Amino acid sequence: MNLFPERFFDSVDEVPFQSEYESGVRGIVFDIDNTLVPHGAPADDHAAALFGKLQDIGFRTCLISNNHEQRVRPFAERVGALFECDAGKPLKRGYLKAMELMRTSPEETLFIGDQILTDVWGANRAGIRSFLIRPVSRDTDPLQVKLKRILEIPVLFFFRRREQRKNP
Ligand SMILES: [Mg+2]
Repeated sequence: MNLFPERFFDSVDEVPFQSEYESGVRGIVFDIDNTLVPHGAPADDHAAALFGKLQDIGFRTCLISNNHEQRVRPFAERVGALFECDAGKPLKRGYLKAMELMRTSPEETLFIGDQILTDVWGANRAGIRSFLIRPVSRDTDPLQVKLKRILEIPVLFFFRRREQRKNP
């Protein structure tokens, strides 16, 4: 059971997308809530600009969310991404569906999300590299997410310790 992301970033804006493209990544899978916008918020100009930039670089993009179609479809349409709703993270099936939609292999795919026990765990199970993002707004987390964040604390502790040993 691997719960560690490959890397951690304070926001999606810090991810080096261009160098990921140059190293062969062709599809990026995103979580929505608290990765791109506060939980439940609509796609904003910032999110639309990010996806525009990614599509200009040449990436295919797909949103996977455990939320329902009425939440996910309007967001995906605004940013011009493929989507899979009711994805059942941390099960593998949503990630596999995303790769099928983008026509990418696991080696060409990168996942970006804000939760260890759903997003990162599922990506690791599906054999996709995962980047963990600091949540946009913890205040907007529903109760079950707040509880999961308590369980994330020891994982983050050991992840950060490992990172510090790599980069003292
Ligand atoms: Mg999330």
